[in-house]
Amino acid sequence: MVIQAGAIQAGQAAMLADLERRCIDAGLKMTGPRRIILQVLREAGDHPSVETVHQRAKEFDSSISIATVYRTLNILDDMNLVRRHEFNDNYARFETNLDHHYHVIDVATGEVQEFQDRKLEASIERIAAALGYELVDYKLELHGRKKTG
Ligand SMILES: [Zn+2]
Repeated sequence: MVIQAGAIQAGQAAMLADLERRCIDAGLKMTGPRRIILQVLREAGDHPSVETVHQRAKEFDSSISIATVYRTLNILDDMNLVRRHEFNDNYARFETNLDHHYHVIDVATGEVQEFQDRKLEASIERIAAALGYELVDYKLELHGRKKTG
């Protein structure tokens, strides 16, 4: 996917502005590279790695270094402005979708799909309650292979 500067649609622009505002509220200084990295993250639907974010950011500004991307993602993660996943890989992948959702990871391609399921959440909350816990957080990842035919 090639991202063109200035080609973001109004809805995405609003979401980007919201993310930027949350970063500023959290005390993050908004430099040019950070703005670009946020835009790349906001537009990504595929939970990109540091390397992928770097490749896309360079399309806007070729001077952005992988170290800057790495540092920025770590800061955003520390501030809970992005979510970091390990999935099945040995490297971290990032997303800005902080709404509760789950992932199905294709073991063959590494492709990640998101899903939500209220009934499943209710079941998990019920299980935690039955065990005497108030649920604070949980992780759920499905790893699968696409069915053929
Ligand atoms: Zn996700």
